[in-house]
Amino acid sequence: MAYVYDDQNIFAKILRGEIPNDTVMETEHTLAFRDIQPQAPVHVLVIPKGPYVCYDHFALEASDAEIADYTRTIGEICKAEGVQDGGYRIISNAGEAGVQEVPHLHIHILGGRNLGRMLAPAR
Ligand code: 5GP
Repeated sequence: MAYVYDDQNIFAKILRGEIPNDTVMETEHTLAFRDIQPQAPVHVLVIPKGPYVCYDHFALEASDAEIADYTRTIGEICKAEGVQDGGYRIISNAGEAGVQEVPHLHIHILGGRNLGRMLAPAR
């Protein structure tokens, strides 16, 4: 499958500095900022700076340095946001079935409250 990246998506605009964001952490390859509509006391979005549409795109085509930086930064944010002890959830929605709204890879780090079960049972 050929991945097609739309550089007009809202996170691309955040990366270019065209839209403000509440930055939590920034590294060479990764930016983390607070979700504009938080669904938990901690709700941080973590994105790679490179043009990747979704998780599988990133996992298959990003460099080792980008992947290491992204993964390590997610761990650092869990520590810095204080969700290690109480627990947290990481979600990455992809494509139509995953109901992905913004077509630039992002993982949600959610914590600070009991998040309930992951999904409703399939019908
Ligand atoms: P998705 O449904 O694609 O997994 O999640 C997209 C997330 O991006 C949503 O939780 C939404 O609240 C968040 N979001 C959308 N636009 C903006 C924005 O301009 N700034 C920030 N910080 N978050 C946004």
